[in-house]
Amino acid sequence: MRHGTDSERICIVGAGIGGLAAALRLAHAGCDVTVLERAAGPGGKMRTRPSAAGPVDAGPTVLTLRGVFDDLFAAVGERLDDHVTLRANPILARHFWSDGTRLDLHADATASTAEIARVFGTRSAHEFTAFHARTARLFDTFDAPMMRAAAPSRIGLAAAVLRQPRLLLDMAPHRSLASMLDGAFAEPKLRQLFGRYATYVGGLPQEVPALLSLVWQAEARGVWSVAGGMHGLARAIEGLARARGAEIRYDTEVTALDTGPDGLVAVHAGSERIATDRVLFNGDPRALARGLLGSGVTRAVPQSGVEPRSLSAHVHAFAATPAGPDLAAHNVFFGDDPAAEFGPLARGHVPEDATLYVCAQDRGGGIPPGPVERFEIIRNAPAAPADTPEENTPCHIRTFARLGRFGLTFSPAPGPATMTTPAGFAADFPGSLGALYGRSPAGLTAGLARPRARTAIRGLYLVGGGAHPGAGVPMAALSARHAAEAMLADRCSTSPSRRAAMRGGTSTA
Ligand SMILES: Cc1cc2nc3c(=O)[nH]c(=O)nc-3n(C[C@H](O)[C@H](O)[C@H](O)COP(=O)(O)OP(=O)(O)OC[C@H]3O[C@@H](n4cnc5c(N)ncnc54)[C@H](O)[C@@H]3O)c2cc1C
Repeated sequence: MRHGTDSERICIVGAGIGGLAAALRLAHAGCDVTVLERAAGPGGKMRTRPSAAGPVDAGPTVLTLRGVFDDLFAAVGERLDDHVTLRANPILARHFWSDGTRLDLHADATASTAEIARVFGTRSAHEFTAFHARTARLFDTFDAPMMRAAAPSRIGLAAAVLRQPRLLLDMAPHRSLASMLDGAFAEPKLRQLFGRYATYVGGLPQEVPALLSLVWQAEARGVWSVAGGMHGLARAIEGLARARGAEIRYDTEVTALDTGPDGLVAVHAGSERIATDRVLFNGDPRALARGLLGSGVTRAVPQSGVEPRSLSAHVHAFAATPAGPDLAAHNVFFGDDPAAEFGPLARGHVPEDATLYVCAQDRGGGIPPGPVERFEIIRNAPAAPADTPEENTPCHIRTFARLGRFGLTFSPAPGPATMTTPAGFAADFPGSLGALYGRSPAGLTAGLARPRARTAIRGLYLVGGGAHPGAGVPMAALSARHAAEAMLADRCSTSPSRRAAMRGGTSTA
């Protein structure tokens, strides 16, 4: 830490991907950065669990929009490829239905079209071509004024649409994703497949706007595997942030944020009070709104920016020897009836029949996996259900029974201890209620409701999946750019007298 320099002190609460990316940018810009993280290591949701085959990813598995990370590393004078080994997956995902239908979608859209024609016929292939083009137009239109803009506005978005009026048709503004897909695909399996992309941002296809069909494009533009697992990306950014001078402290929970008449003045971590000029909060913004960091900062974000909540999940992470269908790196085993999954989820219940995502982590690198492989299985769940054996034990049993019906078994059979429940996520990410993607993306204007980097409290900023532009690894990293730019801009406009008054080392209460 560079005490005694004229740089101001920034405390970052949380070493999730957003906190780490912001730490790197800010430390590179010469700020005096201290990251305080309650967990024992970096990454937040991008974490691992120990297994017989080594650390297994227990959070995100699909790396999309790698350009966001190329940009992050370039911004600090580095090359992403010098720090992590990324391999593009030729197969985006392998999809299984219980009637034996199997469909691969490819990084090459032409190959996906041919595969859809082979499995579902030429009409479906034409419909896919139209859907792919439509979502590409939406993605390209909204990338700059929405995702990459620090403060998107209705006017800016409307202007983008008015420049290409056909986008109004593409957006289908008053339709849900499910309703739009009903019109786009005659084949129910393709409606089910593309409707599932709503869950990638924690929503349900019948509740999110048709506009979110553009989530497909994030994946269509390439999926990368990180050698050694996704967590390696967090480690690489952490290492660079340290190399730029950031101090990163683990097992350090921030319990309160102190405000003075001029805004934020200090953070409390246990018995320690750390004076600071600014705080960048990487926890769930709902923790602030609910007063978990003290009553002085509850007004930092409005309730409408953190409620209603997005989905949670039951997540298994384990090593085993698989038997059954030939797996790709990313596999989806569909439930028999989407309504039987999404109906209960909408009512806050754990569904009996659910689509299961199976990541075979060791198959992403083009190298044949060993006999014992690492797996992550994700089953969507509502946020904050009861954490009871009545909820969780049947869920564990149903997951593996369901995969067994597809012929997929694991030896040894993973036990319930390999599972993280929604309540487990709620405990690990305070204030989140176990929701993994922040505020729910339901409703046409949900994208504008998420809190921005600057909060209502001077000196307090937000970064991460709970803030604009939203959840997902690249989005959290984009939010870090927004936050770092806001903090650096505000530093320039802060009066020297305030900065002089605020600076100070560590004092112990
Ligand atoms: C099972 C699962 C699968 C996912 N799959 C994908 C995927 O395939 N692709 C994708 O792009 N995204 C995926 N996501 C979403 C993605 O992981 C997240 O959106 C992203 O990692 C969130 O990053 P973040 O910056 O918000 O920080 P988080 O990961 O939320 O981390 C926040 C950090 O802040 C710390 N913290 C909170 N409060 C305090 C406090 N008071 N004091 C100190 N520290 C504190 C926490 O301990 C945590 O380490 C998945 C998420 C999960 C859980």
